[in-house]
Amino acid sequence: MGSHFSTTVAQGRAFMQLIDGKSVDALSGERIDVASPSDGEVFASIPASGEADVDRAVRSAHKAFHEGPWSRMPAVERGRLITRLGTLVEENFEELAALESRDTGKPVRQGRADVTATMRYYEFYGGAADKVHGDTIPFLDGYTALTTREPHGVVAGIIPWNYPLQILARVAGAALAMGNTLVVKPAEDASLTTIRIAELALEAGFPEGVFNVVTGYGRDAGAALSAHPLVDYVTFTGSPGTGTAIQQAAATNNRGVTMELGGKSPQIVFADADIEAALPVLVNAIIQNGGQTCSAGSRILIEKPVYDRVADALAERFAKLVAGPHDADLDLGPLVNRNQQTKVAAMVEAAEKAGAKVLARGSIAADAPEAGYYHAPVLFGAVDPEMDIAREEVFGPVLSLFSFEDEADAIRLANSTDYGLVAGIWTANGARQHRVAKRVRAGQVFVNGYGAGGGIELPFGGFGKSGHGREKGFEALFDMSATKTVVFNHG
Ligand code: NAD
Repeated sequence: MGSHFSTTVAQGRAFMQLIDGKSVDALSGERIDVASPSDGEVFASIPASGEADVDRAVRSAHKAFHEGPWSRMPAVERGRLITRLGTLVEENFEELAALESRDTGKPVRQGRADVTATMRYYEFYGGAADKVHGDTIPFLDGYTALTTREPHGVVAGIIPWNYPLQILARVAGAALAMGNTLVVKPAEDASLTTIRIAELALEAGFPEGVFNVVTGYGRDAGAALSAHPLVDYVTFTGSPGTGTAIQQAAATNNRGVTMELGGKSPQIVFADADIEAALPVLVNAIIQNGGQTCSAGSRILIEKPVYDRVADALAERFAKLVAGPHDADLDLGPLVNRNQQTKVAAMVEAAEKAGAKVLARGSIAADAPEAGYYHAPVLFGAVDPEMDIAREEVFGPVLSLFSFEDEADAIRLANSTDYGLVAGIWTANGARQHRVAKRVRAGQVFVNGYGAGGGIELPFGGFGKSGHGREKGFEALFDMSATKTVVFNHG
């Protein structure tokens, strides 16, 4: 794997966005400072784009879709370009990992895991591009009816800051494989790797206008993109409130949307579970990326007879967790920005005031810079399911434990929030594995495990407040296209 890891990657660089195959600044010339969450130091900047920049990007994507070679290119050639992008990601592995870590604050090893998953997404969707086909349908005598899958046209991807590389890859991989063109608006807090990937896409040979990136604030660039009349489909990952605003904007043009809006995902531990095997997975599911993960396992429901044993073992592990700068590569890094740090601290304080009991707290490394956005991990025990901390997404390293009486009680508790993204079930009883997996309301259910190492191949998405539509795997290709039916009357 080429390139090397640099703790001063992108130092002083004024990044440009990519519109119509060119690196350009915002028309206004305004910029957003990029600070490292580890120490608050401003080390780079990105364009602060608005409506006029978005309009340029969308028109370029519209032209590339309707006039360019892209829509007429054989699927196998589109697939080769996507695969080539994956190869370039591999060639720039360490630089991308360093950039992602420095920009978001995530520990180096998480940055590397994200690049590995990113390569895999482009590999998967590059290979899938020429595998999607339609059907012939038995119809009236004298007719032949068939279906094809058609791209939507211009897809707008609005990306959050928690996994910029990976979320971009699952959106771009599927959208491009189906022959759409793209305008991506990364989060203002983490745009750097998105810009690099668009540069690599140009290097890979994507035609101009196929892969555009517009950077800027959500209220400016994001709002303009989701409301643009030449955008044909919008895909968004982020908070439910912003998801509502984006759906309303897209609805003004009656456009389709995919929404991935977070969760409050439970893991259910039955008394017959292999608890030793479960413990590290339970901890990792909330500590990974500092808890800033839509699929974070933020609630653990424990069957009464083993509650104390599991709670004590988790408390022991939590007390040893340490947060520190991204390049120290500790258990977790800082949170992404001051807002998140303040929000998480406020939710923890409110939970304590409401009577939730702290079983254990991790720590912040003694040499972590004061100006970084750190929050120590917190473990709450015997939480009342009616409390906010039991129902609201914290998006930080905060885990809540609950106890339950029996299977029916466990299912009721698991389904007691408005979200429905992921669930974990820990039990040795095979019949119970099937029963509970069927009844928990979640888009993904893991039995005796959680997360399955990225799961590029596995369809992913939510029920209820967690959103709608499916990403990842082959299934994403259906969201990123629409069925066309063609009927021949041959008498
Ligand atoms: P957000 O949902 O507001 O931001 C996500 C993306 O949407 C960013 O690119 C942002 O610029 C854009 N955006 C914001 N307002 C917009 C608008 N009106 N129109 C179009 N685009 C807009 O998330 P946030 O404010 O950065 O974080 C707030 C909370 O969201 C977090 O605390 C967390 O709970 C949740 N969150 C969830 C996920 C997830 O993966 N589910 C990711 C990030 C944040």
